[in-house]
Amino acid sequence: MAEPVLNLSPSPGDEVKTTTCYMCACRCGIKVWLHDGQVRYIQGNRDHPVNQGVLCAKGASGIMQHYSPARLRKPLLRVGERGSGEFREIEWDEALDLAASWLKPIRERNPDELAFFTGRDQSQALTGWWAQQFGTVNYAAHGGFCSVNMAAGGLYSVGGSFWEFGEPDWEHTKYLMLWGVAEDHDSNPIKLGLGKLKAHGAKIVAVNPVRSGYGAIADEWIGIRPGTDGLFAFALAHELLRMDRIDLDYLVRYANAHWLVIDHPGGADDGLFARDADGNALCWNTQANAATDANAIGIAPAVVGEYALPDGRKAHPVFQLIVDRYLDPRYAPDAVSERCGIPADTIRRIARELAAAAFDSKLELPIPWTDSWGREHATMQGRPVSMHAMRGISAHSNGFHTCRALHLLQLLLGAVDAPGSFRYQPPFPKPIPPANRPGKARKPDGLLDAPPLGFVHGPEDLVVDANGQPRRIDHAYSWAYPLAAHGMMHTVIRNAHAGDPYRIDTLLMFMANMSWNSAMNTGQTMHWLTDKDAAGEYRIPRIIYSDAYASEMVAYADLVLPDTTYLERFDAISLLDRPISDADGASDAIRHPLFDPMSQRDEDGQPRDVRGFQSVLIELGARLGLPGLVNEDGSPKYRDYSDYIVRHERAPGVGLLAGWRGEHGDSQGKGAPNPDQLQRYIDNGGFWREELPASARYFKMANRDYLRWAQRFGFVPNDQPIVLQLYSETLQKFRLAAQGHGAIQPPAEHRERVATYFDPLPIWYEPFEHDQTSRTTFPLNVVTQRPMFMYHAWGSQNAWLRQIATRNWLYLHPDTGAMHGIADEDWIEVSSHNGTIRVQAKFAANVQPDTAWSWNAIGKRKGAWRLAKDAPEAEKGFLLNHLISDITPRGDYANADPVTGQAAWFDLRISIRKAGAGDGQSAPQFAPLGFVAARAAPLRYGAGFRRRHKLDAR
Ligand code: SF4
Repeated sequence: MAEPVLNLSPSPGDEVKTTTCYMCACRCGIKVWLHDGQVRYIQGNRDHPVNQGVLCAKGASGIMQHYSPARLRKPLLRVGERGSGEFREIEWDEALDLAASWLKPIRERNPDELAFFTGRDQSQALTGWWAQQFGTVNYAAHGGFCSVNMAAGGLYSVGGSFWEFGEPDWEHTKYLMLWGVAEDHDSNPIKLGLGKLKAHGAKIVAVNPVRSGYGAIADEWIGIRPGTDGLFAFALAHELLRMDRIDLDYLVRYANAHWLVIDHPGGADDGLFARDADGNALCWNTQANAATDANAIGIAPAVVGEYALPDGRKAHPVFQLIVDRYLDPRYAPDAVSERCGIPADTIRRIARELAAAAFDSKLELPIPWTDSWGREHATMQGRPVSMHAMRGISAHSNGFHTCRALHLLQLLLGAVDAPGSFRYQPPFPKPIPPANRPGKARKPDGLLDAPPLGFVHGPEDLVVDANGQPRRIDHAYSWAYPLAAHGMMHTVIRNAHAGDPYRIDTLLMFMANMSWNSAMNTGQTMHWLTDKDAAGEYRIPRIIYSDAYASEMVAYADLVLPDTTYLERFDAISLLDRPISDADGASDAIRHPLFDPMSQRDEDGQPRDVRGFQSVLIELGARLGLPGLVNEDGSPKYRDYSDYIVRHERAPGVGLLAGWRGEHGDSQGKGAPNPDQLQRYIDNGGFWREELPASARYFKMANRDYLRWAQRFGFVPNDQPIVLQLYSETLQKFRLAAQGHGAIQPPAEHRERVATYFDPLPIWYEPFEHDQTSRTTFPLNVVTQRPMFMYHAWGSQNAWLRQIATRNWLYLHPDTGAMHGIADEDWIEVSSHNGTIRVQAKFAANVQPDTAWSWNAIGKRKGAWRLAKDAPEAEKGFLLNHLISDITPRGDYANADPVTGQAAWFDLRISIRKAGAGDGQSAPQFAPLGFVAARAAPLRYGAGFRRRHKLDAR
């Protein structure tokens, strides 16, 4: 008889299904183990290109997201006053009838009276398209209050960006600078990459006022003062130029360093590129001693000097303008050191280290490749310096130019898509700027001419009326925020309340906690949501809201459409939306239902009658008869979202998913719809990936193999090289308009602003709140960080993640505490120009002394999320949002970047003073909502699982 042996790997469940995590924006592959029909265990999928098996605390805690007591269970219709949280449950038919009855007259009357805004939505390829079918210009997702500076700064400079659209060359980088990076976006890939760098002995430098997360394992922490990253980048550029440690060959081959810029002060052509009759940019060809096509090869273009064009106009190469600006003594390390909070010697040393890593390492990969002009190269020349940046540098009113400054620095080093440097992830790079412009004209059938979000190429693309006034409720693409490529969700509620520029009828929102942690000026926002006019009618007449959970925003809706959890529906992680590609291949993925929601019980044991928002949107569109959502006979075109994912074609052969297209599933990228496509994804672990050939993996902006491959997928229109824009003619066009040139000019009140901030080369200026408030009254900066273990409000209600933290503190450097007479854990009053809150301080030396910080989105309103009445999140936790104004201290514009409209969360300045403990609760507190926990007993999920065998008899 065999001896019993210990089974060290008991199966965690009866069956396992592969899908995609949704506990943060990273979208890792997961394996979900089920036991008796319940989720038993979630593990990382080793085969998945994003995480290669790595799983974080959030991902593992997805179980508690699926079984959260806060889940909504049925459509809700408001019966009390808005904000009271009094609802009655209704059936889906009634809910959809009602929504359609509200929306139909709007579409017939004026589609712009619908404002449709989504939060941390991962289905923008659908939601933006739906808004286009409805015909409203008033659509956006959350990018405007997240990191559009990062996206726009990159897309208008290098045709790609940091974020999850590019990545350091983890295999070859020798020097990585992380600028303002928290642990949210691209989380597990960065962890994997940092591990590789550590193993290779690469140096990691973290530039951040706070040392947490990735910064904690960096080799060097630079505790920069908030909002000065651009100044630091310019000082590094100054040093590189001074030392002549610049990759001029790269700048001429791949960027516009040699393009001639017309010097004609006061002229309508001043600052534009000199062009030939066919529109080709010109350079000064020193061989011919004449201005010739800048994109020709085999020439010797000048990069410095002044030249006379054939018609006598003066012109300078872009690089000359760069030298003139950044070699200026105002950007010398000694000149910026005090403002940045970085010793000048450190700045000089970092510049030397960057140059040494880029130029002295002699990295050269033996990979033959052919450039766009047909020249063959035996090797790929490396520049093993990488940068990665995120919200810390972009959530400032100077963030757009700061992001451009980082790209300038990379380009000077030749470190964009060279081996060892920042690398594009397909579908990037895109032409600069990307071709798709924002939709604004309405066709006879009500359809908008393009999706509402896009990229403006000049003043003619703004979404303004004949007087130059905003046409969108959020004022995106107006003269105040011309390049607002992600919209401006943070301005919608103020403007809708004020009727600026017009009254809307219905606000439709999805996954956007706009009455709490997603809003600036939170208390005022709650007032705007509930305020009534003289006739006793709500100033925002109707609010429809969809969410899976009883968030603070649910109480402010008139009609609540309960969403599923991420394990109960189909989703497409599409290349048309936020791709999950890596630098060596293109990928997309799906989620698919592991359960029928109706089979799942809620906290009280009641059946859940919830539907995926995307399917609801498709049904609603069909009920409204929207063009793309009904057949010619008026019948619904799509059964639900899964049907749409498979059968919808954005262009012939192009759908939401690129894998297994064609009738038989044998086409990738383009091909006819494949009825079996979703099953093919499921069979493949929920994702699709096509690897790039080795010759196509670097220099994608001018690599013939890559551009032809990308053209096949529809990522680029042709195989022409994408010239990286050190100098932006698009920005100069706006400046010229503001100076009185051209047919389309800004209204008088915006002229100076546009002329100032639309500088074609990156600039640095004081963040608006720093400039417009007293440094004496508000001596400290304050920023939030996102914890590694939570992601937005939906993670901070998760029972398992709450065991890590149930409250936040205001973290102060001990020296700062001492200076203000504050001891560790004292209660303090924190004031800004917008208000005062009372919170508890905690000492932490991981922050530079004139900055305080806190975790974001942990503080909750009492009675929300079905937490206990005395949950620490509400009693002790707090939001900095109460202190953050949604407009500048001067009150003239949104608290946002003047180029893109990105919310300037991190411009906040505060004062602190010791306060009494009061009632031991943070302030302000608001009337409790009614979504409190039904039971006081501890949650013991899993306690009832049958004990698995520990011993196997063999
Ligand atoms: S990093 Fe994000 S997507 Fe990946 S496992 Fe963690 S929570 Fe899920």
